[in-house]
Amino acid sequence: MSPLPVSPADIEKAIRNVPDFPKPGIQFKDITPVLADARLFLGAIDLLTLGIEPGSIDAVVGIDARGFIFASAAAVRLRAGFVPVRKKGKLPYQTHEQDFELEYGSATVAMHVDALKPGSRVLLVDDLLATGGTAAAAATLVQKLGAHIREIVFLIELSFLKGREKLPGHPIRSLVTY
Ligand code: AMP
Repeated sequence: MSPLPVSPADIEKAIRNVPDFPKPGIQFKDITPVLADARLFLGAIDLLTLGIEPGSIDAVVGIDARGFIFASAAAVRLRAGFVPVRKKGKLPYQTHEQDFELEYGSATVAMHVDALKPGSRVLLVDDLLATGGTAAAAATLVQKLGAHIREIVFLIELSFLKGREKLPGHPIRSLVTY
């Protein structure tokens, strides 16, 4: 018997809200209960890749660090390669870097200079869209290499932070919206 299909509401129920982590005022969305449940983890990957034919994209780009978990599983599902966007200083080979603004200060993400072939078709994945700075910086790196973003998908979107406004022109999908 095949397991019951997973709905976004099932995933929402499993997401744990942790108040004041990592600092006061932040409502941290903890996705580890989703990962720990085999049915929900598989269901999340099914939903994130819904409507995307295996073979129709070349690479799934995942964002450091929780984005890697969903992006690598999605890559296997879609018969695509996996490419990491990492925090600055972690990748061993030559990189392109992109700065972006945080609430306080700034951060930098990096991608290997040869990670994507020009013209390749990319699905960009992260666990959560908040202000959009991280995803926008990752999208800039993908485009710097001449690759095309087919879609950007998130498990969670904090819509009140208006992250979509930093990603104009990209099709965006999120499974659970707060
Ligand atoms: P942003 O650049 O503001 O869109 O932040 C998105 C990144 O920060 C994602 O990679 C998330 O993993 C992480 N993040 C931001 N806010 C939260 C939150 N409330 N709960 C969990 N992760 C978050």
